[in-house]
Amino acid sequence: TFIAFEGGDGAGKSTQARRLAQAFQGVGREVVVTRQPGGTALGGSLRDLVLHGEAVTPRAEALIFAADKAQHVEEVILPSLEDGAVVITDRYTDSAIAYQGAGRDLGATEVTQLQDWAVDGLVPHLTVLVDIDPGEGRRRRGVVHDRMESEADGFHAAVRGHFLALAESAPDRYLVVDGTATPDEVARLVWERVTQEGLA
Ligand code: C5P
Repeated sequence: TFIAFEGGDGAGKSTQARRLAQAFQGVGREVVVTRQPGGTALGGSLRDLVLHGEAVTPRAEALIFAADKAQHVEEVILPSLEDGAVVITDRYTDSAIAYQGAGRDLGATEVTQLQDWAVDGLVPHLTVLVDIDPGEGRRRRGVVHDRMESEADGFHAAVRGHFLALAESAPDRYLVVDGTATPDEVARLVWERVTQEGLA
């Protein structure tokens, strides 16, 4: 079982990824929680480069995030799935499609093709979009940690709109949850869907 959490900065994805891992462990499943960018040693270096480096052009940014994913899929995700573990990733291809495709205006079609190639077509069984208003996400985060977080609200609004459009285009594969609900409520809704789909 392969599950991705997506959504804007400050939505609560990381908390929910951990909560879902605990729920799976509660029913005796082995779980690997990982993240993008930065789920491998190479990915950690790439993450620093792109989030804390000096000037990175939009295309370079898209390629670096794609390289991170390629390494992550081969080194962590596929081997864990083959071992029978549940893999939960904090961000996956939709983040690139939303941030680089819509936010940076590179075009969703091209970025989607690039991402599909990078991950060799590996699609999650379920993608949970934790939806949050960019202003609320900003308030929750407090201080700015990286280059993306310092982008204007218009950038984050475009990213959010694209996440929602992706979810609408494939409702079978997505669950959209309101990131302003309590963590308990979000976790409950996610687990409900996971069990409904027979993914537990
Ligand atoms: O979720 P996390 O804080 O690990 O993400 C790191 C940063 O990378 C976030 O600010 C996110 O907006 C950005 N990001 C991005 N494009 C991606 C993936 C993440 O701009 N494809």
